[in-house]
Amino acid sequence: MTAKKILFVVLDGISDRPCPELGGLTPLAAAKKPVLDRLAREGICGIMDTIAAGVRPGSDTAHLALLGYDPYKYYTGRGPLECEGTGIHMEPGMIGFRCNYATIAKDGIITDRRAGRIHDTTDLSAAIQEGVDLSKFGVEFTFRSGAGHRASLALKGVGIGHCVSSNDPKKDGIVPLTVQPIKQTAGDEKTAAICNEFVRQSSRILFDHAINQKRVKSGLNPANIVLLRGAGEMGHFEPFTKKYGISGSVISAASLINGIGNAVGLSRVPVQGITGSQDSNIPGKIAAAIHELNTRDFVLVNIKGGDESGHDGLAEQKRNFITKTDMALAPLLDLPECIIIICADHSTPCTIRDHSADPVPVLIHGDGVRVDDVTRFDEYSCARGGLTRITGAALLATALDLINKAHKFGA
Ligand code: ZN
Ligand code: ZN
Repeated sequence: MTAKKILFVVLDGISDRPCPELGGLTPLAAAKKPVLDRLAREGICGIMDTIAAGVRPGSDTAHLALLGYDPYKYYTGRGPLECEGTGIHMEPGMIGFRCNYATIAKDGIITDRRAGRIHDTTDLSAAIQEGVDLSKFGVEFTFRSGAGHRASLALKGVGIGHCVSSNDPKKDGIVPLTVQPIKQTAGDEKTAAICNEFVRQSSRILFDHAINQKRVKSGLNPANIVLLRGAGEMGHFEPFTKKYGISGSVISAASLINGIGNAVGLSRVPVQGITGSQDSNIPGKIAAAIHELNTRDFVLVNIKGGDESGHDGLAEQKRNFITKTDMALAPLLDLPECIIIICADHSTPCTIRDHSADPVPVLIHGDGVRVDDVTRFDEYSCARGGLTRITGAALLATALDLINKAHKFGA
């Protein structure tokens, strides 16, 4: 029997290097994870260079590669994808930024780049959308709140460039920078001027806003300046459905991953209680994914907590999160007519607290796979698997072939 659907589970940053706290094992090798091991035993395994050998992927470029969109062609910066993730529909040519609400003191010094980790900035963002006027530049803008202190800004108009710097000083205690054109083209100069004007006008609105006056009275840091970064121009993404002939959904707590999904035309599925952290509702994500498969051919699920532990250097926490995730994956063992892919998007070794280029383990489970001898899902065992060492671009292509959706090349 040929499977008809694909469930693609990305365990973000779960791959690692030997950790001294775990007796030299990786968190995956050290964790109790009967479900992942059984899927590995019943499936075919391998290791994967998500972009290319020796390239350290970001989560954004990694997910583009995993979905079959060459990041070297499609990626111009994180901004436009973050904009999509906050619900702004980005048309090709629009310029997007990821933003932070921050605190600036009366003397012009940034005192808190996260504005006291403010949450629910919807009213502040609405006031900015209402009050800032950029009409003299002939551009329209959309400003939306994201999770916590985050937000995004999109610009639409003619003659605007995307090669501009950030006003984020990257640390507290100094004045914000002026946004500068990077390539000195007329378009970049115009965008830089727009950004500086946006920051000036929005700060004036934020300074006087009732929410901030109340925060100051309560001893909280006000959100009175917007920091802009990650400028990029929205490209043209061939829709997923057109590219592959299948429909799809995305399930993630991370606005960046949702943004990538939206950009390629996957529908976003909201799930209660998902946080992108250790306490996330992973069973809820898996239940939602299985439900989506009733009406969709493809579902991408991103589970983020392992990456967080890697960035924090917490090997034992990462190992425990793997066990927690494994328990939530149990319903996948009885999924009919479905190809299941499980992989990391990149390694996030606890020893370096950042993404590395180490290849990641991958497994494919379902009807038609040539089952190999691998019995455990970890970096070492999967390296001996039947998929051998593949690239991220080859992974979805392999799964599409298993559901009979790959195009024949030649006669
Ligand atoms: Zn990632
Ligand atoms: Zn990361």
